[in-house]
Amino acid sequence: MLKLDPPDENDLKTLGRLCKQPEWSAHKSAWENAYTAYKIAAGNPWIVKSVVFAEDIGAAQQKLYDNRKQGGAIRRIRDTAGLKCCPMCGSGTTGTLDHYLPRAVYPEFSIFSLNLVPACSHCNSGEKGSTITGDDDEYFLHPYFDTLAQSAIWQIRFERPLAAVRFTPVPSPDLAGVPAKRVAFHIGELLGGQFNRSMDTEWEALPQRLRDRLEHLADIRPADAALEIRRQLRDVIGSDGVNSWPAAFLRGVLADPEVVAHMATLATPLVAAALP
Ligand SMILES: [Zn+2]
Repeated sequence: MLKLDPPDENDLKTLGRLCKQPEWSAHKSAWENAYTAYKIAAGNPWIVKSVVFAEDIGAAQQKLYDNRKQGGAIRRIRDTAGLKCCPMCGSGTTGTLDHYLPRAVYPEFSIFSLNLVPACSHCNSGEKGSTITGDDDEYFLHPYFDTLAQSAIWQIRFERPLAAVRFTPVPSPDLAGVPAKRVAFHIGELLGGQFNRSMDTEWEALPQRLRDRLEHLADIRPADAALEIRRQLRDVIGSDGVNSWPAAFLRGVLADPEVVAHMATLATPLVAAALP
């Protein structure tokens, strides 16, 4: 999850050129109005209603994306440089594009730069699917319009027993009201199987990472572990972003003294040596 600057594309100019073609010219003003409405509503699907173009027009609008996705503006957005994580879900990969409002429902925004967000293949290929809103105020965070993701908005809760731990993504405890609801919806809808596999890996790797850094200590106390985990969290925020998967994992560990103690025990050299 990242807050991004909106792409620097002149969508109305693109539309103007397109609508010089006879098959599109009749739709120019309705289309321009839809773009403007999207911008004013910051993509909020509770406000942006799909414009009812004729059915064949919708299909042709969707096809525009297929015809243009390898070139120009769309390629520039997909290849946005310097992304620390997936702007939608926080995974460590990028390289595809997500239609923030799905093009099957909102074909008029198929090639609209503000509706195209660089994302990872999980986001693009189905975790989000055709879900648009939840209850009441719930809808996805928009990387171009929502500023929430500039600071830490989520972390992991470790479900007991720790010997068979499960990982629940939860909003940061300092969020309340609508922001907390929106973050809960966002992470609840976007994080799936790949996320759980990644958390398994983080969980298994942390004791060794602590041991590597604290090998000079005969006995790793929880306070030593916490200090080192805080250091790792700072590093991960720098490299992967404040709302990346590993950052949310380490924040969750630090919020749970029992987990910190568990990791300290596993990391202590004697205990480690005794493990099979
Ligand atoms: Zn993603």
